[in-house]
Amino acid sequence: MSRPELKNFRRIVVKVGSSLLIDSAAGEVRAKWLAALAADIAKLHADGRDVLVVSSGSIALGRSRLKLPRGPLKLEESQAAAAVGQIALARIWSEVLGHHGIGAGQILVTLQDTEERRRYLNARSTIGKLLEWRAVPVINENDTVATNEIRYGDNDRLAARVATMASADLLVLLSDIDGLYTAPPGANPDAKLIPIVDSVTAEIEGMAGAAESELSRGGMYTKIEAAKIATTAGTHMIIASGKVEHPLQKIADGGLCTWFLTPANPVTARKRWIAGSLEPKGTLTIDAGAVAALRAGKSLLPAGVIKVEGDFARGDAVIVRGPDTHEIGRGLVAYDADNAEKIKGRSSPDVMIILGISGRAEMIHRDDLVISGSRS
Ligand code: GLU
Repeated sequence: MSRPELKNFRRIVVKVGSSLLIDSAAGEVRAKWLAALAADIAKLHADGRDVLVVSSGSIALGRSRLKLPRGPLKLEESQAAAAVGQIALARIWSEVLGHHGIGAGQILVTLQDTEERRRYLNARSTIGKLLEWRAVPVINENDTVATNEIRYGDNDRLAARVATMASADLLVLLSDIDGLYTAPPGANPDAKLIPIVDSVTAEIEGMAGAAESELSRGGMYTKIEAAKIATTAGTHMIIASGKVEHPLQKIADGGLCTWFLTPANPVTARKRWIAGSLEPKGTLTIDAGAVAALRAGKSLLPAGVIKVEGDFARGDAVIVRGPDTHEIGRGLVAYDADNAEKIKGRSSPDVMIILGISGRAEMIHRDDLVISGSRS
């Protein structure tokens, strides 16, 4: 496959590593560089793209604000440093994006938030709403509460999960290296940059060396792990150097980097996940009008549901059947079984009155729905 072009992507996650954001000697943010990156983001945003930022730097910034000595930190020290640094980090992003009239929304996630389906869906709808409002979500791991055994620890894999969660079609990892080399370039002068990786094979995995920089925990290993997560879920990924000014513009201009290509588009991969890997917990039987709407690519509204069976929770996979009990498709339901039973057959304004809250308008959103026999 040939190299794609940045302008063809609609939803882009940009991951910024600590060593780019923070000047390790001064312990402060590299303001000029960040302003240039924010200008790149603003340009994509103005072109109608959805942009999400995964930003590291809380621990590094906190450690410098607290004037902690160099050297490794214990877990509770990193957590406390992150608590100080994250406030500063959020403020910095809010300022640099605000300069372009863009609102920044902070989201701190833990590993469980992206692994457990219900929390995952919740975080996903918050992200969706921010994007709908044309804000830029700025995401980091919630380092202050994450414990050693159950944390990402690196923002490469976190960014890949965020990209799949947000159904992004592109993930850009800005790093202190301009791509994947055939061998770690520091030690091998003959190492060559690989411009396009069609699939993450064992050979590609073997090319990843150990982490090289003190500030970033990632290194190439976690970037390759991120590439596996992203490309399996239908998201293309780029490793590019963030050491240049205007790093995103440079990619758009055809600059050196490594593209990891996904064989599928995000919708297909996500829907494959829904269709294939989850155990349906219940069944919704719908009327003929709803069947037609679903086949036309619409969401399933409560009004179209005639029967609710099974003991499912919000976010569980359910089977959708037509009036003749023929399976129409499967999807992730937005209500638990009790509430689904209460609102079936009712119009959206009724739903609010019945449940006493303004819930989601859809019983199953079309992004969470896969229609049998349909290829999308
Ligand atoms: N979440 C960490 C921080 O903000 C960064 C992890 C990483 O460098 O990948 O400091």
